[in-house]
Amino acid sequence: MSKAVTKISIVFALIIGLTPLFNDQATAITSPFIIPTEGEVKATYQDPEYLQEFGKEHYGIDIANNGIVPVVATADGEVVFADFHNGSTPENSYGNLIRINHDIDDVFYQSCYAHLNTFLVKEGDYVHQGEIIGYMGNTGFSKGQHLHFEIHEGGEWNASKSFAIDPMKLLNGLSTVAENYHVFDGTWASLSINNKTDDLYKVDIFEGPGTGLKGTVSSDSTYNVYGKLYDTEGEFGYFDIGDSSFILEDNVTITPYQATINSESPVQIFSTPGGTAVSQVEPGATFEATGAKEIDGVEWYALSNIGWIMAEYVNVTK
Ligand SMILES: [Zn+2]
Repeated sequence: MSKAVTKISIVFALIIGLTPLFNDQATAITSPFIIPTEGEVKATYQDPEYLQEFGKEHYGIDIANNGIVPVVATADGEVVFADFHNGSTPENSYGNLIRINHDIDDVFYQSCYAHLNTFLVKEGDYVHQGEIIGYMGNTGFSKGQHLHFEIHEGGEWNASKSFAIDPMKLLNGLSTVAENYHVFDGTWASLSINNKTDDLYKVDIFEGPGTGLKGTVSSDSTYNVYGKLYDTEGEFGYFDIGDSSFILEDNVTITPYQATINSESPVQIFSTPGGTAVSQVEPGATFEATGAKEIDGVEWYALSNIGWIMAEYVNVTK
């Protein structure tokens, strides 16, 4: 990280063409919002039947479905809440709730996803449209698995829902969920450079684990992680960020992808890709991915210390 290395680095970065993670969001989008899940609309915005049954106005839409049902972000934005919502009374509880702030053509929106089973994001995360943020559930005041979905325009959610609008008007009717499951490409985590106080802070990269200094990368980007190797003494770990570029683990923060079992029945876990079966995992269970490999045309993920699973049995979200 000397001055000399820093100067060379810009040239190297251009030559090796390291691609920051989020530059390839090339999905064509015609409406600023998408329907956040798949299922049957059981209650509409200000549904008279809902008012009659529960004695209160319905400021969202209810979409119901069975099984393991992903819920995705309706638009790009920042997660500002991902926690259990108690409400003033149990009848007012949204259960496991995510709220996301959006800036669409300089208009503020907030979307709310209630009664979730599990969270795949946390407060402060920036999410992209179509990214899975959790799974449909039945938590809080809910009579059966469904997603209660609200959109607020011009202000945040509040107890009187004064900014609520009919999501269906924005969504322009039901549309297909943009599935954004991680496509297997050998990556299993992203990393960012540790020094957050300086966007131009640079860290050395090597051709191998600890050998062959080839340049630097700067802290203003996030990088895909393809693997982890140790130096010849087995002392220092290096992450493989692609294009034969390795970076010392002490210099970075790793964010593993989340792998959720997408099968309807238990799935076998193996000691190595294609090795011995050692255990089973339950449908819907979520793990951190800690490795990825393709062996004889079969794709595998390592799940946080428990073993390897065939990629087809997991939905992996960044
Ligand atoms: Zn509802």
